[in-house]
Amino acid sequence: MGLNIRQKIFLSFILVVLVSAGAVFTIYANSVRVTELSAEITHQNVRSIVLAQTMLQQLLLSDWAVSQYLLSGDPSWVNMSYKAQQSFKDTWREVKALATDERKQDLVTKVKTQYQRYIQQTHSVVQRFDQGLVNRQHQQYFRGEQSVLQSIIEYLQTLITLNEGQLYTRLEQAEKLKRWNQGLSVGVVLLVTLISALLVFILNQNIISPINRLMDGVRKFANGNFAAQVPVMSQDEIGELSAAFNIMAKNIRNDRQKLTALTITDEKTGLFNYRYFKQTMTEEMRRAERYTRHLSLVIMDIDFFKHYNDTNGHAMGDLLLKELADLLKEAVRETDMVARFGGEEFVLLLPETALPIALKLADNIRLRIQNHVFPMEEKQPNKDLTMSMGVASFPAKNVLTPDALIEKADQGLYRAKKSGRNRVCK
Ligand code: GH3
Ligand code: MG
Ligand code: MG
Repeated sequence: MGLNIRQKIFLSFILVVLVSAGAVFTIYANSVRVTELSAEITHQNVRSIVLAQTMLQQLLLSDWAVSQYLLSGDPSWVNMSYKAQQSFKDTWREVKALATDERKQDLVTKVKTQYQRYIQQTHSVVQRFDQGLVNRQHQQYFRGEQSVLQSIIEYLQTLITLNEGQLYTRLEQAEKLKRWNQGLSVGVVLLVTLISALLVFILNQNIISPINRLMDGVRKFANGNFAAQVPVMSQDEIGELSAAFNIMAKNIRNDRQKLTALTITDEKTGLFNYRYFKQTMTEEMRRAERYTRHLSLVIMDIDFFKHYNDTNGHAMGDLLLKELADLLKEAVRETDMVARFGGEEFVLLLPETALPIALKLADNIRLRIQNHVFPMEEKQPNKDLTMSMGVASFPAKNVLTPDALIEKADQGLYRAKKSGRNRVCK
């Protein structure tokens, strides 16, 4: 994904907030519902049950008072009955207010209808009793009224059962929601833990690991490994930084290569310079010593170069040096090294080469130079541009150091000059 680090962190944050908010909202909504259910249980069901039971008591009390009156003729029983009836009506109104669903309302209405019948019947029995119309037979009337009473009791009991049923259903619902909330809470803790672990993983993958890789590259680079590169794994800031580091490292590497080339190259001829020759020669000599191999050195000097300069000018002399250098470069083997020794002198370093072969190689080169047509060479003392060469090899007696080997080759060169130039001597 082409997201930068800030966007990645922001997205992760949003994800955690959304999940947490969703979970907290669900838990909150469930708690609210549990509270509502508890309130409904207490205010509707429990209260309805208690009130219905109160009505039953009031009904039975009123009925009992009437029968006591009929037995004793004491009017205080009638009073008591009326009071009980009044309380019944008051309680009925409360129960009606609580009857929220159709079935309950239906039951409450039926209770009312039956109760009115019951009151009428009771009333008429009491009236007849008062008028002396009913004495022994009032029991019979009373029995008629009992069936009405029975149905009221049944209706009230049905109401109680209904409320009980509702109460248990609501309790179950509340219990279920409670369990749900418990499970959800555990789930949320697990989920948030999981998301956090995931975030740590993502953070590690996207930030910490890339930074470590970048640090690795920078460390290697700082320790001198200029080829060090960092893998660019993302398009975020670290990816950009890694890419920039790679470009920077590459530029520095190229610049260094150029600088190194400059420090080992002779400007005028394009050959290796003396310093690099000396360094390479020292290494080669050490190697030859360690593995008991041969190493030969040829020192070459242009014959009558002062004359060439004096005759054709210094600038032409410079051109000649360059042309000669190109020829030498072309003439030597891949494994050999040719360098400018200084002035108009050149050296040829021949690893794995013993003296006889070195002498032969040197002479071949000498011949190539002799045969090559250089500008203005006809003005030279012997009408030709030639070189004299001295050759020395390692191992040899008294040749233990690079300087000794150079000295020995220089002696050969001296001999070549002395004995008439344009020749190779050891
Ligand atoms: P010999 O055959 O004995 O070597 O004689 P020679 O004239 O070559 O030797 P000498 O040492 O007398 O002269 C060397 C000349 O090389 C003198 C110097 O001006 C010239 N020379 C050295 N370096 C350069 C250079 O870089 N460019 C030019 N044009 N000439 C150079
Ligand atoms: Mg010279
Ligand atoms: Mg010379």
